[in-house]
Amino acid sequence: MSHKLVLATRNQGKITEFRRILDALAPGAIELIGVDQFPDLLDVEETGSTFEENSLLKARYTSQATGLPAIADDSGLCVDALKGDPGIFSARWAGEHGNDRANLEKVLDQLKDVADGQRTAHFMCVASLVLPDGRQQVAEGRFDGVILRAPVGENGFGYDPIFQPAGLSISSAQMSAEEKDLLSHRGKSLRALAPHVIHLLASLG
Ligand code: IMP
Repeated sequence: MSHKLVLATRNQGKITEFRRILDALAPGAIELIGVDQFPDLLDVEETGSTFEENSLLKARYTSQATGLPAIADDSGLCVDALKGDPGIFSARWAGEHGNDRANLEKVLDQLKDVADGQRTAHFMCVASLVLPDGRQQVAEGRFDGVILRAPVGENGFGYDPIFQPAGLSISSAQMSAEEKDLLSHRGKSLRALAPHVIHLLASLG
């Protein structure tokens, strides 16, 4: 029997990525559906003060509203020289939600006097699963690197053009989606959560 699982995102790329991960672990065991199949669901306000709280807020709301197990993720860029900012504010760092260009320009400006050796940063992602009976599980993933001095590359989104993964000489906007999945915070957190998803859904019978 296959279990239905809602992924609390409208991002088709995230749905495809997680479907691939789950199918590799338990072929055919889980039917993953996006929130676009539930037009009445509202956008959850991210009022938490950590990635984990915001991830759980989204998963909890989606599970309660659909009556199904739900998965959500929350992520962001943490820059050491900015004491971990923009962190949970990554999507709205320059004010307007989702203005990727303005957000990365602001980080570049904030780091303009920071020396090369001190431009370390990491992306964080916390993925969470919430069941209708209230049980929950979280898993995190981290992607280390440094902040460049100017944007490079056309792939990806958000801060990818100014993020150079540790050990590489290209930005994460110059990586293919498959290459980035293997190293990224989101790929790591989803792969860490997947065995728990399979285990907890199996316990529902
Ligand atoms: P969300 O968790 O999908 O809401 O992402 C939060 C914000 O963090 C995004 O809007 C981006 O600004 C940033 N971010 C998260 N993951 C990545 C990534 O893989 N590359 C670049 N930016 C990212």
